[in-house]
Amino acid sequence: MIGMVIRSATPNPTMTITVHPVLGLPLISPGDDLAALIVERIDLIDGDVLCVASSVWSKAKGYLRLLDQISPSDRAKAIAERTGEDPRFIQAVLDESEELLLEYPFVLSVLPYGHIGVRAGVDQSNVDGGRVILLPPDPMGAAAELRTTLEDLSGARIGVIVTDTCGRAFRRGQTGHAIGWSGVRAIRDFRGDTDLFGHTLQITEEAVVDECAGFANLVMGESNNGVPAVVIRGLPPWTGHDDLYWHEGEDLIRTALCSHTPVEPLR
Ligand code: GDP
Ligand code: MN
Ligand code: MN
Repeated sequence: MIGMVIRSATPNPTMTITVHPVLGLPLISPGDDLAALIVERIDLIDGDVLCVASSVWSKAKGYLRLLDQISPSDRAKAIAERTGEDPRFIQAVLDESEELLLEYPFVLSVLPYGHIGVRAGVDQSNVDGGRVILLPPDPMGAAAELRTTLEDLSGARIGVIVTDTCGRAFRRGQTGHAIGWSGVRAIRDFRGDTDLFGHTLQITEEAVVDECAGFANLVMGESNNGVPAVVIRGLPPWTGHDDLYWHEGEDLIRTALCSHTPVEPLR
């Protein structure tokens, strides 16, 4: 009896999900064909969800900047003075940002597509030669492009999630987050479902793409693991929607932060 009730909330209570690192990928440079490099190393099958680190997508597409070619504005210099960072790096962060929510103790930015990230997700690790890695300017488009190419090359129908390692509100520690996805819904909507006691769920929405990104991030590791792509296999399909980011005014933390520590507009 209980088994039946559980089944209503979980599509397949006996599901076994496996997670496979894509091993042996080289250091990625601008111009590299990431999809081809991936299918040479793993056999994709229908229903797989391929998670790829945004950092390598950006490297393959050349979303990189040389610090030496950046001249910092007075605003970037003033922020860098407070945070103790390179003003050229802060300028790269400001250039990626649509809006600043915090300048100190770290820059917290809203990106044009709705993601909110520390230092606008600009990375100084896993890249050489005085360069920084920017987040892909259109992560949803990136996921769609990678999915189309991977599906063409492999013949499998798959989902793709572009991930980044991010901090979270309320808790210490970073986890993987989805910043782009294709072929899967961001959120599984449980609203209207009943719990074990027959109560109708009013607000439960599960951010499945973030859960996938979190596990993928665990397998990728940070630093020098060299695993920027991970396949999640055996996920039962889910339905829901793609409204992952809060709309203007819905995000209570953002509202509280902005009223507590107002920041000068960027432009
Ligand atoms: P982010 O979370 O998207 O910012 O990416 P990270 O810099 O944390 O890298 C995620 C994973 O990809 C780690 O295991 C890195 O070692 C690995 N990685 C980063 N760049 C490359 C690369 O060019 N080639 C390979 N093979 N692995 C990379
Ligand atoms: Mn990153
Ligand atoms: Mn990472």
